[in-house]
Amino acid sequence: MEKVIVIGGGAAGMMTAITAARHGLDVTLVEKNEKLGKKLFITGKGRCNVTNAGDEEDIRNSICSNEKFMYSSLATFSNYDMLGFLDELGLRIKVERGNRVFPESDHSSDVIRVLEHELKNLGVNIMLNTQVLEILCDGMGDKQEDYSRRISGVKIKHINNDKIELIHTSRVVVATGGISYPQTGSTGDGFKWAKELGHTVTTLLPGLVPIQVKEDFIPRLMGLSLKNVEISIFDNNKKIHSDFGEMLFTHFGVSGPIILSASSKVGERLKDKELDLYIDLKPALTKEQLDERILRDFDELKNKAFKNSLDKLLPKKIIPIVIEMTGINPNTKVNEIRKEQRAMLVDCLKNFHLTLTNLRGFNEAIITRGGINCKEVNPKTLESKKVLGLYFAGEVMDVDALTGGFNLQMAWSMGYACGSHMLSE
Ligand SMILES: Cc1cc2nc3c(=O)[nH]c(=O)nc-3n(C[C@H](O)[C@H](O)[C@H](O)COP(=O)(O)OP(=O)(O)OC[C@H]3O[C@@H](n4cnc5c(N)ncnc54)[C@H](O)[C@@H]3O)c2cc1C
Repeated sequence: MEKVIVIGGGAAGMMTAITAARHGLDVTLVEKNEKLGKKLFITGKGRCNVTNAGDEEDIRNSICSNEKFMYSSLATFSNYDMLGFLDELGLRIKVERGNRVFPESDHSSDVIRVLEHELKNLGVNIMLNTQVLEILCDGMGDKQEDYSRRISGVKIKHINNDKIELIHTSRVVVATGGISYPQTGSTGDGFKWAKELGHTVTTLLPGLVPIQVKEDFIPRLMGLSLKNVEISIFDNNKKIHSDFGEMLFTHFGVSGPIILSASSKVGERLKDKELDLYIDLKPALTKEQLDERILRDFDELKNKAFKNSLDKLLPKKIIPIVIEMTGINPNTKVNEIRKEQRAMLVDCLKNFHLTLTNLRGFNEAIITRGGINCKEVNPKTLESKKVLGLYFAGEVMDVDALTGGFNLQMAWSMGYACGSHMLSE
């Protein structure tokens, strides 16, 4: 029986192993951690947003890098196929806001449990506490010529006793993930091997990650969550991104769904310059409507000081900052506030300005952007175009998507495509 080694017991590796075993291959899944799916376990805040139930367009629109590379694997194994697969494995699911799919139990461990059960059912040889040290191949002489080399095996280390062993095989799947949240095991080994084997790895960047902000007042806003706000990001007065939804403030800057998405859309620019973030705190109102609203509030509160007049309009934490930004004396009685001062307040609420300085690090990034150059991998089979018998699946590839279950769906799709095409190639 054809033998295949899958490196990495994450989403992509488990799906590859299951699919390859279902197609009759003799599969060994090698994982350096003491258990499978360590990253999967923490996904979706422990609930695992396992896929997205949106249509094909939703899926395609969610992909930030190398969308076209994904077409083939998504066509081979779509998000609907994933829903069918989970059903077949006996996992009950539910669909939430934004078509996000979760296990009905709200426990990511249930997703891991059904995958592990299926792996065992299919007789996949699961080697835990086993680290792959090196991928071996024959014909190392000419690194330039395509397919001058072929996979011959892997060198592994049994972590519990430091024993080193060689396993011979002609097919190896690298499903080692990216370099974000490295404590889950994704430490970038796949990138190192790929380079040694003649592949290029595109620039790695933290993706879906909080963003650092310059303004000194930021720590005072820590913990504040803003719902239904609109953000616009400008690069030198040119609008480069906008979104609507929820965000939150941290001790260093901004985070939350629309900020994480923004980090993947504009993050590259933050490598060498600052960007301007404008938050529209009242997107449902035009400037005129907002001014009328403020006038009404001021009318009701006549003799109150400005600093005590914004409670109905804004969350408590942000009021002192807004007041400072307007430059209006906080003790001014509201009936003494002039029209042009009100205009400043309106402008501040519609364009609350922050300076974005840089992305936070990989330790806080939900995904790694960049990875194995897609041009060097067959999109249908996920096989390397440089080394015969070498495959890549999952986050190790230079593909990434927005939040909503899309990143896992790409891992499932690539894993399936890889596992199902191996025998036919
Ligand atoms: C906090 C957080 C929350 C997330 N939530 C979601 C979500 O809800 N929905 C969603 O779609 N996506 C989510 N993601 C992203 C998603 O988890 C990843 O995109 C996905 O897990 C990638 O799967 P993978 O199999 O490619 O890599 P990984 O899951 O990183 O798996 C790689 C595996 O390879 C193993 N490995 C690495 N090197 C070696 C070696 N030398 N030898 C042996 N084994 C090795 C690692 O130990 C690891 O288990 C989240 C990510 C994070 C960090």
